[in-house]
Amino acid sequence: MQKSYLDPTMQQIVARVEQCLDIASAYFKQAFEMPQVKFNQRGKIAGSARLQLNELRFNQVLMRDNLDTFLSDVVPHELCHLLAFRLFGRVRPHGKEWQTLMREVFHLKPATYHLMDVTKVSGRKFTYMCKCGPIQLSIRRHNKVVRKVQKYRCLKCGTQLVAA
Ligand SMILES: [Zn+2]
Ligand SMILES: [Zn+2]
Repeated sequence: MQKSYLDPTMQQIVARVEQCLDIASAYFKQAFEMPQVKFNQRGKIAGSARLQLNELRFNQVLMRDNLDTFLSDVVPHELCHLLAFRLFGRVRPHGKEWQTLMREVFHLKPATYHLMDVTKVSGRKFTYMCKCGPIQLSIRRHNKVVRKVQKYRCLKCGTQLVAA
């Protein structure tokens, strides 16, 4: 892949992959081959790792909206999938090997960020009212109210929330 085809945001991502790879190489005192970095990940997924191809794919749309998260979390997250495969072979995607890499090598909480994507795409909020004013409920809570499974009260005034 030619660097000249990359815009500045993509270059930042590639540079971060290189940096993370350096960190891992230093940690394990072993050289890891630089993965192919592509920006063709589609859908709600932030990124993915092709283990056999030694390839990382990032979602351009999400990347531009969440560049900080990509640099801090998504790049090391995906790279750890490749590293886990190189070091341990076929292991569970977010299993203990991957978690250890995240924690020990990159000092990151081994969380899956797939929640971020879902929240972003389906993070619809529903407006409810109490005496203090409007309050936003998540779709999950809203559905519970609709199904009469749960009632919610305002934490400040204590009145029961009703759909606006
Ligand atoms: Zn993952
Ligand atoms: Zn209130």
